[in-house]
Amino acid sequence: FWEVSYNIAHVMHFIPVSISSAAAVRHIQDLLDEPTRGADRAGAPDLPRITNDITFDRVTFQYEGSQTPVLDNLSLKLNVGRSIAVVGPSGSGKSTLLNLILRLYVPDEGRVTIDGVDIRKVTLGSLRQSMAVVFQENMLFNMSIRENIRLGKEGATDAEVEEAAKKAEIHRYIMSLPQKYDTPVGERGDTLSGGQRQRIAIARAIIRNPSVLLLDEATSALDQTTEAAINRTLLKVAKGRTMIWSTHRLTSVVEMDEIIVISGGRAIERGSHAELLAKNGAYRKLWDDQLHQPHGAARQVDDDDSD
Ligand code: ADP
Ligand code: MG
Repeated sequence: FWEVSYNIAHVMHFIPVSISSAAAVRHIQDLLDEPTRGADRAGAPDLPRITNDITFDRVTFQYEGSQTPVLDNLSLKLNVGRSIAVVGPSGSGKSTLLNLILRLYVPDEGRVTIDGVDIRKVTLGSLRQSMAVVFQENMLFNMSIRENIRLGKEGATDAEVEEAAKKAEIHRYIMSLPQKYDTPVGERGDTLSGGQRQRIAIARAIIRNPSVLLLDEATSALDQTTEAAINRTLLKVAKGRTMIWSTHRLTSVVEMDEIIVISGGRAIERGSHAELLAKNGAYRKLWDDQLHQPHGAARQVDDDDSD
């Protein structure tokens, strides 16, 4: 159960409060009821636009009630403007790393800084404002496509919604529907294919115009063809931003500027795909293992619907 409420908790952080009266959301909030972690300090300043780096400075982090730390004295500098993949086996701490950047959790030891400032010392609102997240499963609400995209930015105009949909390469498909942007997505978005849902989630993320785009297994549930198409879209969308992409599916990471391999709570390798293959180390082993696996994670065959 915690996995379900955990994902809902994540989504709720990025949805404006104004829609919280909608019945669907009220139900979710009942489920949620999460204590706020790390409230703002009195007089905390807003985070300025990120210009240099997000840095993990000797970060140790352990979930409550667990025996071992997920991140163990992790030091890592993520430079802005790059597309960065965080890879590693399931349970290695990739999502935890993103959670700490979002301040959904705070380190037990060490700190996460942005341009040298501890993210605990700035307002949570300004920190989250600069970021957007796309998950493997994204919550679509039983409202129109337009309203679902607009959840990313309160008060966004129709033009902004369409601009975001164009960048997510779902605009043309939406325009082909009889009701266009007013099309209801249905309960849990199940009138759309997995690829279409993911593109709407991407549009919802980019309407925020985030400096930092975080992707947590964003394309891992899709079949290979759809995954490849959406990966291409994401790489385009990431231009001029910092993209941090956690995934265990290495097909997603080949074209990224930099790949970081997490294992045993630390970053054990770092470089481009070609560099890491040449190293013949942990990345090479993950890569070879995946080549010899059937493409098991695909749960549905999903015609790609990109423009
Ligand atoms: P990954 O994303 O690489 O699969 P995670 O960051 O999700 O790894 O998880 C790292 C470890 O922390 C795993 O052992 C996982 O079971 C545990 N974990 C993750 N989230 C929680 C949580 N909310 N409470 C307790 N343990 C958790
Ligand atoms: Mg994960």
